[in-house]
Amino acid sequence: MIDPAALPALHASHGGIWIREGDRTAAVPKGTAIARTAETPTLLLNAPLTGQRLGYPDLNGLDLLELWAFIHPARFLVPTPKGLAEALNLPRPASESDIPALLQAATGALLAMLESPAWIEREGGWTAAQSLHRLRWPWAPLVAPRIARPKEAERWLFSKLPEWEESPPRPAPRTISLQSDAVVARLQQLTGTGAEARPGQQAYAAAAVEVFHPRAHRDQPNMLLAEAGTGIGKTLGYLAPASLWAGEAQGTVWISTYTKALQRQLDRESLRLFPDPAVAAKRVVVRKGRENYLCLLNLEDALQGGFAGRAAILAHLVARWAAFTKDGDMIGGDLPGWLPTLFRRNGSTALTDRRGECIYAGCPHYRKCFIERSTRASADADIVIANHALVMINAARGRETGQAPQRIVFDEGHHLFDAADSTFSVALSGQEAIELRRWVMGPEGNSRGRRRGLAARLSDLASYDEQGGEAIRAAADAARALPADEWLKRVVAGEPFGPVEALLAAVRGTVYARAADGGEADAGYGLETELAEPDGTLVEAAQEAARALDSLLRPLTHLGKRMEAVIEEAPDWLDGAARARVEGAIASLGWRRDLVTAWLALLARIGGPADADYVDWLAVERIEGREYDIGIHRHWLDPTRPLAQAVLKPAQGVLITSATLKGGGDWDNAMSRSGANHLPRGAGRFEANSPFDYPGRSEVLIVTDIKRGDIAALSGAYARLIEAAGGGTLGLFTAIRRLRAVHARIADRLARAGLPLYAQHVDPMDTGTLIDIFRDDPRASLLGTDALRDGVDVPGHSLRLVVMEGVPWSKPTVLHAARKLAASNQGGGGSAYDDRLIRARMAQAFGRLIRRAEDRGSFVILSAAMPSRLLSAFPPGTPIRRLTLDEAIISVSGQSRAGLNGNATLGLQGLDAGTHDLEQK
Ligand code: SF4
Repeated sequence: MIDPAALPALHASHGGIWIREGDRTAAVPKGTAIARTAETPTLLLNAPLTGQRLGYPDLNGLDLLELWAFIHPARFLVPTPKGLAEALNLPRPASESDIPALLQAATGALLAMLESPAWIEREGGWTAAQSLHRLRWPWAPLVAPRIARPKEAERWLFSKLPEWEESPPRPAPRTISLQSDAVVARLQQLTGTGAEARPGQQAYAAAAVEVFHPRAHRDQPNMLLAEAGTGIGKTLGYLAPASLWAGEAQGTVWISTYTKALQRQLDRESLRLFPDPAVAAKRVVVRKGRENYLCLLNLEDALQGGFAGRAAILAHLVARWAAFTKDGDMIGGDLPGWLPTLFRRNGSTALTDRRGECIYAGCPHYRKCFIERSTRASADADIVIANHALVMINAARGRETGQAPQRIVFDEGHHLFDAADSTFSVALSGQEAIELRRWVMGPEGNSRGRRRGLAARLSDLASYDEQGGEAIRAAADAARALPADEWLKRVVAGEPFGPVEALLAAVRGTVYARAADGGEADAGYGLETELAEPDGTLVEAAQEAARALDSLLRPLTHLGKRMEAVIEEAPDWLDGAARARVEGAIASLGWRRDLVTAWLALLARIGGPADADYVDWLAVERIEGREYDIGIHRHWLDPTRPLAQAVLKPAQGVLITSATLKGGGDWDNAMSRSGANHLPRGAGRFEANSPFDYPGRSEVLIVTDIKRGDIAALSGAYARLIEAAGGGTLGLFTAIRRLRAVHARIADRLARAGLPLYAQHVDPMDTGTLIDIFRDDPRASLLGTDALRDGVDVPGHSLRLVVMEGVPWSKPTVLHAARKLAASNQGGGGSAYDDRLIRARMAQAFGRLIRRAEDRGSFVILSAAMPSRLLSAFPPGTPIRRLTLDEAIISVSGQSRAGLNGNATLGLQGLDAGTHDLEQK
């Protein structure tokens, strides 16, 4: 057996490269490290990241993260040396040069686990190791000999997963009214009897009761807009009435979030509602879109030869996880977010049901399917934790659950507008159209994995019903007009094939002719132009494409009717399983029909009159100059109109809540961005200010001596501020290009000072993993863009400084310009509209800083051009100063020291405290 201590180990960071061989660790140059790893299997942690640090992306080795994923699937691990040491109870490395020794020790500990009776994830391990040996997984020679062969053959994953149970449809909820004292009692039960009474939270819970009263008028839900500052405890504030109502009325409350972070937090809170985990798992269910879950049929195909090389190894590691996962959620669930990135995402998306190819009851794993299980579980749950997009889609379609959500709490409600904006939008793009072609036609050419066209999915219907069979054939013929593989190459080369590719070529020509390339920051990224005054080529191409799409729509519509007829006729072969499959096909066909109908409306607009309800534009999507999609886009000018129609009006009660619901404006702003303005009787309002001591524990520093566009000065400012805070910094950018430039200039310098710097769009890791690493290491800092502005919940000392590179102005997109114009036409003033958006972004970013009463920190904006009128974004009383970078650095280091000492006084050495509050409005 190979002795792990005999294996060399490598660690590379921005601060240096170290290799350990035998019992000696040495710093080495890049070339030596690359050559050494090519010669001998070498232990390392996170191969893509190590490869990036070496400037050698193809680096291979014995990656301890892969070994962890094999031994402890579905177990959380912060993928850093510190995280690994803590998970294995090994001493934390004191310096970077100690890390290779840690990797050897960790390897020894992990491999020893394989021989230990305490290994709880043993089941299936022996069989998986044999398969991985055949696939030449580098760890297999070390792993396989250490696992004892089980006495009896291990059960195949697909036979050991539990089956879900069918239950009768749940009756409609009882009509009840909640009593306020019962809600307060429930709240006390949730917070714990010893907890300090929080009047803001009690008032919040009492106000939220309104949402659970019986509805008095049709199309008018009991709706409440509630702005509750950070620290009020709004989560338990709404869970108290929601859980009480769900229990007494025997109904389901949908709680909807925008970020996965809050979804996870709510899932944890469910244990307060139901301390027994088995009961909690039944009563509180997390629901996500089906594209998040592992599709067992796709996994089976991958394991049986559909995947090759590294993708096949990933499939086996995912199969290990599938046996231990709580719910099969691959994105943000208990599959480590870092696992797919170790395989450069090769194959992971093909394991989910992204393309809507599910064959429902025709699938041999239907009764064990994670997606079906979660759908069924949510029908009987008290609380369903979902996201805004899923709630909107379920409400609009009302099909998946059999009934649309009736009692809804939208937390992170300030994102409702954006979520509705994207949910109710339409895009006729190359990527969307090729997906439709694949859904209709199935596999073409050398495509990998399981793809089935309509003909294969509905073969029994086709053989029973001649007209249905004919419709399927006609749809497949018509789908040939849609873009095929390599469409983008042909379009760029000016050689489109078929009417839809020709349309995309005409769109591209118009965009390049009319759109201005972005400024310094956006050059090489998206290009777009308004859909107005189309030229003859585009109009003709649109007409041809419309004819082709119409030829596809007709057989799809006919097929839908035939399937409904078959359900009515109920032939002998239509047993329960076949019926479920046909019903599933009717639903997914319906969505495609709606999509093609929306595309046709969009094409009719080219050369026809504009519709004042929509904003239409043409776009070429690019990343660093490389094109990846071309299309025509349509958004609602006011997406809260379809939101009100499809989601709010049919509901009985809706609570929309957030710490920043007014979004840098006033209640009118909250009303117009939540859809309340489209309800006959509007919505109630509740407001509770944060109990946190913002004036005493935070400060806003506006640095006035960094020249706009000076990357060297911007980088220097970031580096010095991060050094002053000793890490713990969240750096926010509005342009990826600038983020990368700053990171490239400062990462090495900071690493040498023992301050690791991570960055979105730079480090080959998913955002969730980056946040986990940041949270876990108080000396780490993280740079990122929009998603971090309010997707980060890092209480405590790990986050003590937020730095914004400048004022977060809105990008001058076609959509933004149209909404701004509409706001000024309605008398709101275009610049007031802009100001509201900027204030909302700043308030969200500031909100990252103080998450608990004992937190403290600084919020720095590197912009002399920060208009005073925007400063009302910050909580009342927060000290705000304009100062030089040198002064800001003194303040930040004082604030950080005070945080470390738990000192209640601000470190304001050498600064004029008398300037505080001068600019606070
Ligand atoms: S029922 Fe559908 S989603 Fe589930 S495993 Fe089968 S094909 Fe995949």
